[in-house]
Amino acid sequence: MLIDTHCHLNLKAFTDSYRDAIARAKENGVGTIVNSGTQAPTSKRAVEFAREFPRYCYATVAIHPHHAIAATAADFEKIESLSQAPEVIAIGETGLDYYREEDLSREEVKRRHDVQQELFLRHLTLAHERRLPVSIHSRNAYRELAELMTAHKSLLAADPPGVMHCFTGTVEEVKPFLDLGFFISFSGIVTFDDAEELKQVAKYVPLDQMVVETDAPFLAPEPMRGKKNEPAFVRYTAEHIAELRILSFQEFAEATTKNAYRLFHLEN
Ligand SMILES: [Zn+2]
Repeated sequence: MLIDTHCHLNLKAFTDSYRDAIARAKENGVGTIVNSGTQAPTSKRAVEFAREFPRYCYATVAIHPHHAIAATAADFEKIESLSQAPEVIAIGETGLDYYREEDLSREEVKRRHDVQQELFLRHLTLAHERRLPVSIHSRNAYRELAELMTAHKSLLAADPPGVMHCFTGTVEEVKPFLDLGFFISFSGIVTFDDAEELKQVAKYVPLDQMVVETDAPFLAPEPMRGKKNEPAFVRYTAEHIAELRILSFQEFAEATTKNAYRLFHLEN
């Protein structure tokens, strides 16, 4: 059995197809699906999914850094209120996204970073209040995230504190998050031929700190690269990493499933 620790059946791409996607996930040995919120409405949708598929779908709620600038106080209040639902097993995805800033002025970049950092810290505070782990997104910001999280270590209250979702950094970049006790989640990107460095990370991270995800509908793994991703495809990523680590698929699936249960405080 495998667990898709991060996907988005709650996005429009699955409006007409989520039931089929869930049926195929079940057929392909996916035992649990975690739908991740990106804004107030998608977070609400993730909670609704968890209610429609009890003990199969779970939810995480947050405002994604992409939406940080546009987010209002009322949006964050909705996240706070949703986070009280028993179906919510983490705060996320939250974090920092410093991608594509070449065309922005220095002031715009500074404002973007300030707003994202402030919102990220609010999410960490909320996770602390709720004693929930955090699911963290990073693009071009591993150093800044490691610094912020180390400086605000007392906010990382849950044990374990959370997961670095869809990790795409280097062995050097992963070290501070392992030290903070975070799980590292691998998506289909690790199966790509040109992901040599990430394959090294997948071999480096201790097996007991590793989980897998699809981030569906994005980032379909090989051999489905370029297609619409779905939770059933998490097995390709798991098969690929098992092979890299010279483990049987069974061993790898058992270990990462156990890890996911521990990460999200779910019953085994
Ligand atoms: Zn995501």
